[in-house]
Amino acid sequence: MERTALAREGLNALASDGQIPVGEQVYPMDPARVDPCPDAVEWIAEALVDEPPALLSGGRVIRPGYSRERDGIDSSVAAAREWVSALESVERNRTGIKSLKVGFNKVFGYYIEITHANTDAVPQEYIRKQTLVNAERYITPELKERESLILHAEERAQELEEELYAELLARLAAIAPRLRATAEAIAELDVYLALAHVAAEYNYVRPELGDDRRIQLVAARHPVVERTLAAGSFVANDVLLDGEHAIHLITGPNMSGKSTYLRMTALVTLMAQIGSFVPAERAYIGLVDRIFSRVGAQDEIASGQSTFMVEMVELANILHHATDRSLLILDEIGRGTSTYDGISIAWSVIEYLHNQPGLCPRTLFATHYHELTELEGFLPRVYNENVAVHSQGDQVVFTHYIVPGGADRSYGIHVAEMAGLPHSVIARAREILADLEGSARRVPVASGRAVIQVRQLSLLPASSPALDALLKLDIDGLSPLEALNRLAELQRMARN
Ligand code: ATP
Repeated sequence: MERTALAREGLNALASDGQIPVGEQVYPMDPARVDPCPDAVEWIAEALVDEPPALLSGGRVIRPGYSRERDGIDSSVAAAREWVSALESVERNRTGIKSLKVGFNKVFGYYIEITHANTDAVPQEYIRKQTLVNAERYITPELKERESLILHAEERAQELEEELYAELLARLAAIAPRLRATAEAIAELDVYLALAHVAAEYNYVRPELGDDRRIQLVAARHPVVERTLAAGSFVANDVLLDGEHAIHLITGPNMSGKSTYLRMTALVTLMAQIGSFVPAERAYIGLVDRIFSRVGAQDEIASGQSTFMVEMVELANILHHATDRSLLILDEIGRGTSTYDGISIAWSVIEYLHNQPGLCPRTLFATHYHELTELEGFLPRVYNENVAVHSQGDQVVFTHYIVPGGADRSYGIHVAEMAGLPHSVIARAREILADLEGSARRVPVASGRAVIQVRQLSLLPASSPALDALLKLDIDGLSPLEALNRLAELQRMARN
């Protein structure tokens, strides 16, 4: 009853003056939106026990005193049990058989047991039911009547509780719109209270909102990641996105905090626009019309879409619907396919966002394709950032600080080592990386505006017999027929 009473008291207070106390502050709420539904509270309090079980079958649900029939079952069961427990001594006195016993088992129910030595004294109305080695078991119509009452009472009580409960639900359903409207108002209140609570608890600030295209955050934090780390260990970062620095290309090692930075910016923007305080020292948000995100990788095997397909479908949606007022966070676009395809798609997406007339949305683009940092040289509104790393010999420390400029390494093998891959695998990976970096070749990729060089690591040997023979060929000294024969020979060599 205590909980119901408390809830009722809270709702009544809210409905009477519309003031919600939160710590030392008081927030106003339109009292008309909260209907304390006294009728519903009364019906529930009358009909149900204070601590009803989670399931109707889990025990007593209906409060004693609510239904005469329900209470009647309890009292008749109690009377029947009392009658049965008194039966032994009543019958011992009546028959004079001192060893007479009343018992119960699952097969025969209640019975009266009398040893063979006393069978002569068994009353006539006893009905023999079972013979044992030393005794006989009997029943009487009165005993069976009580037994049936006790055994069926539980079933009937359950049935009746279900009926009474269904009746209560039907009454509540009739006022469902009032309950729903109140629940909605309280849910809304709950959101404000939660936001107010975290703002006060974790030093959020009131963001300044503006109509221009600037998003400027000073010492911003990711509201969720910050909570998962030891107090004070989250590294706050600044963000400046505006017309000049519209597209940020963020490179940096694995596990350094690129995704966190992207998501933090989107979350702070979202929180500011829903009217919340934000986790930062200062925040200015030039309003965005939508936040588009392409982060994480999810297969949609059931719907016939691969990881890469899902990524591309989402990207297509973003490119079709983003405007110059949107905020985009794009995390490792193109990673789901081959390096060449991936870089080419990422490259052309950035060009599209930058060059499409009237577009150039504020964009944070995290990538491991360090080649993309060259775009800063061609596209004036592209701005490189990377996550600072301290490395000394084998020791690598990810600072989580976002600083200007591009990164040149991914430290992927270092992260693989931290993850616990076998030492032999790590050592071999280092050897292969050294080989690949040694034989890195540069491949030209044509962009819309410039021809640039993309570095691509090749697994093929840098030279081959077919290539050597081709380079040595004296084309001017060959007749057309000889040239054809040499061509066929070269093709054979290349195939081998
Ligand atoms: P990858 O390239 O492998 O996807 P990433 O650079 O995107 O990695 P995140 O996933 O953002 O890295 O971060 C990895 C982990 O680093 C986070 O789970 C968090 O524990 C920690 N981290 C990220 N940013 C910060 C920060 N600013 N301060 C403290 N810890 C951070």
